[in-house]
Amino acid sequence: MPFQFANVDGRASLVHDQSYFDLERVTNGDFTSNPMDAIGRYQELGAVSLGLEASDADGVLSPSSLGPPVPAPQKVFGVGLNYKAHVEETGSDLPEFPVVFTKYPTCLNSAFGEVELRCDTGDYEAELVVVIGSHARDVEAANVWDHIAGFTCGQDISDRQLQRAARPPQFALGKSRDTYGPLGPTIVSLDSFADPTDLAISCDINGERRQDSRTSQMIFDIPFLVSYLSTILTLTPGDLIFTGTPAGVAAPTGNFLRPGDEIRTEIEGVGVMVNRCR
Ligand code: ZN
Repeated sequence: MPFQFANVDGRASLVHDQSYFDLERVTNGDFTSNPMDAIGRYQELGAVSLGLEASDADGVLSPSSLGPPVPAPQKVFGVGLNYKAHVEETGSDLPEFPVVFTKYPTCLNSAFGEVELRCDTGDYEAELVVVIGSHARDVEAANVWDHIAGFTCGQDISDRQLQRAARPPQFALGKSRDTYGPLGPTIVSLDSFADPTDLAISCDINGERRQDSRTSQMIFDIPFLVSYLSTILTLTPGDLIFTGTPAGVAAPTGNFLRPGDEIRTEIEGVGVMVNRCR
């Protein structure tokens, strides 16, 4: 049963149309208000969602009340060079193994939060984000979907100068500045999609289309990525995997983000985020 989950003013909430329902209230305290607890019980959220129409909404979603739907994940992974056209625009070789790095959880931002640039080489990367829902250790690719709570939109904002400052380059700091991880607006359950492996993904800067692709173009697909990671470490509820970005980032042209720029990220069936730079 499909559900849509949001963090509204820090509280776990379910979304129906544009209205939100406080999870603790609609379950009479069976769920806590903590979004992290709800994500670990994602298999129950569809059934709760089904009963929402009988109850009154707590309000209408507004951009300013939304927090990152996963506010405190244990781990946040990024996958570099996971779309062929993006590999080509960076002048890199096709990877034989996934290029995996960390975004520290303190970088997470809301779907409509401001991005504080603090550099002249800030870049945008629209990405589909996988939200892990249950412990995953040595999971085979065919069973990966059973461990995913849903999808959300992500921006893997990157300070390119910082990303390449050290030798050899390391990505963790350049991708982890405060506010560099817009996430949301909601988590959408997998059964909401006719085909969760083929969704349109785009990014507009000030209304100009810069990235335009489909998630079916990933080099390492979601079953492979989750399975691969689970053979190395245990994935836990709330862990996030930013699955890589399509071609069209600023780095190859030098057309970096500037204060005042508006970043619009859209993934088909998942949602839209709008983040302004300052
Ligand atoms: Zn990225």
